[in-house]
Amino acid sequence: MSLANGDSAEYFAAAAQGRLVFQKCDACGAVQFPPRHHCATCWEANLTWTDASGRGKVESFTIVRRAPLPAYRGKVPYVVAAITTEEGPRMIATLTGETALDVAIGDAVTVAFEPGIDGDMLPVFSRA
Ligand SMILES: [Zn+2]
Repeated sequence: MSLANGDSAEYFAAAAQGRLVFQKCDACGAVQFPPRHHCATCWEANLTWTDASGRGKVESFTIVRRAPLPAYRGKVPYVVAAITTEEGPRMIATLTGETALDVAIGDAVTVAFEPGIDGDMLPVFSRA
């Protein structure tokens, strides 16, 4: 079952193409994530999907050593990080790559997409 709903369908469609997109408010210019039907800053409803650079920095992280679901058993240990994107929005995502466990706060990261357990393509980040 897909995670997409009316507000996020366009986000997941872009993710399926390997593109990270955010909503930009036509009224105040705020860039937001996760997708919403209105601007969380000024409440206007006119939002335009824009391509993100896919670059960001690690704001914080944790290392998951015990799988939360059986589907994750083959993945532990893995890193879940809070990423501050260049455009501003914060994303919580898995950090991938051979050096993921060496992560430090402030590390530069770039986005890629991998299939999640629900079949949607989900953003993951790796150290730049
Ligand atoms: Zn706004």
